Amino acid sequence: MLWIASAFGLASGAWYSHRYAWWRPTVNYAHPRILMYHMVREPIPGARFNKMRVPPSTFEAQLAYLQENHWQFATMKDWAEGSLNDRSVILTFDDGFADNYEQALPLLEKYNACATLYLVVYRHENDWAVRKKCYHNNRELVKESKLSDDQVREMLSSGRIELGSHTLTHPDLRRLSPEEKQEELHQSKTLLEETFGQAITSIAYPFGLFDERDQDLAQSLGYRTAVTTSQGIDPLISCPFALRRIKVSGKEGMHAFKLRLRTGVRGWHS
Ligand SMILES: [Zn+2]
Repeated sequence: MLWIASAFGLASGAWYSHRYAWWRPTVNYAHPRILMYHMVREPIPGARFNKMRVPPSTFEAQLAYLQENHWQFATMKDWAEGSLNDRSVILTFDDGFADNYEQALPLLEKYNACATLYLVVYRHENDWAVRKKCYHNNRELVKESKLSDDQVREMLSSGRIELGSHTLTHPDLRRLSPEEKQEELHQSKTLLEETFGQAITSIAYPFGLFDERDQDLAQSLGYRTAVTTSQGIDPLISCPFALRRIKVSGKEGMHAFKLRLRTGVRGWHS
């Protein structure tokens, strides 16, 4: 019996080690952590994109943990201005879901936190999920309420939200002509600035997909930072037009969150 127990122990230890890669070294706390969120809401049973839905109670536990452990909340603007301290954490929200206003904003206020919101200009009735994979055609994300312009204005007037661009239509930038790329990056910046009266200096590439021309274009159009969906933690001296982020998954608990915060990734692969 004993050998069965120890074999089981070894196997589960290996599984744990592979899944959580706890042995990965801690990334220097001088390097800011950029966290990537989408929705703050309860999961939908059986839905495909529940990873993108972080329950409000989980989000609150994460904010409480960050506050208790002396993380400094900051925005991408702080990154660009070089005004980050050690243990800086930048919360980012992609796409513009209405729950960012309904659920996330009150919690940001409660924990005296701030965030960068990457807004798609044409976000209503826009089924961008099918652009990445054509079988993502059940309109799951289209059915989710998106932020109205008034909700965005209220978020900005809280003083806790920096607005960034997530392009006009959420395309796969790599497939666009130079003219189309220019329009997505330039027009979104201009329209958001006109509509909301805040300078737009950061962009999130849709689906995290981009090529070198997009980086150059972002820089030439006056963006100062650009974030991807590649996982990891970059030092402040990195190229600011391909910054990695830490994915926050609605399907993971605090253990994975703490590991990602410390190492940039959760396990062996991701
Ligand atoms: Zn997106």
